[in-house]
Amino acid sequence: MAQMIRPMVAGNWKMNGSRASLDELALMSTGFTPALRQKLDIMICPPATLVLAASQRAVGIGIAIGGQDCHANDAGAHTGDLSAGMLFDAGATAVIVGHSERRADHGESDATVGAKAEAARRNALIAIVCVGETRADREAGKTLAVVRRQLKGSIPDHMTSRDLVVAYEPVWAIGTGLTPTAADVADVHAMIRQDLRRIVGKEEAEKVRILYGGSVKPSNAKELMLVPNVNGALVGGASLKALDLLGIVAAYA
Ligand code: PEP
Repeated sequence: MAQMIRPMVAGNWKMNGSRASLDELALMSTGFTPALRQKLDIMICPPATLVLAASQRAVGIGIAIGGQDCHANDAGAHTGDLSAGMLFDAGATAVIVGHSERRADHGESDATVGAKAEAARRNALIAIVCVGETRADREAGKTLAVVRRQLKGSIPDHMTSRDLVVAYEPVWAIGTGLTPTAADVADVHAMIRQDLRRIVGKEEAEKVRILYGGSVKPSNAKELMLVPNVNGALVGGASLKALDLLGIVAAYA
């Protein structure tokens, strides 16, 4: 049985936002009441240009800041890339790796994602490892097989619940307004928990947060967050505005 796991609602701003957008952090903090703070964590992952400023703005307001990607190496000739250590240096406490948009736009393999997760761990960041099937995978009945392959290939076996969060994000649900049924989410999350027992060991697997992502919004958050083995959400579009994000966080009120 999974232990009581402190949920996390993480916002992925993707390639959106300017310094002015950071005002949303203060608004989020205002609605993140003491009662809610006792129950869950909020994290915002802005574009790389904003990580340092966001971390500075987030000091003392109860919101953690993460990156959206990192390189697998710690330094070197990788023009345009960012290392996990640089994100840490800028105040991030986590980094998303293997988001489906990175896997698709940049051809990232499971091995690449696994190396990035390892770089995150090495640099004291939580790796938020994303997995999820495409519409074609789902229609071919391959959802569980695809997610299992991604988990096995993308999560180094020595990771622990302190440095690993898994996000199940069906690719066809991202930014489309579509979501799987609660029963489908339950099946995949139960399978993820089961596979984590094999990958990181039984004890740690019970404590790893497994987030659901894909068109989470205030109107569907409660139903999705109540699904067994769903320990929070990874939110794209609805994390850009404090009111929307707080509407999702309210699922835990
Ligand atoms: C995402 O890209 O991680 C995501 C979940 O996006 P959205 O919430 O917009 O579907």
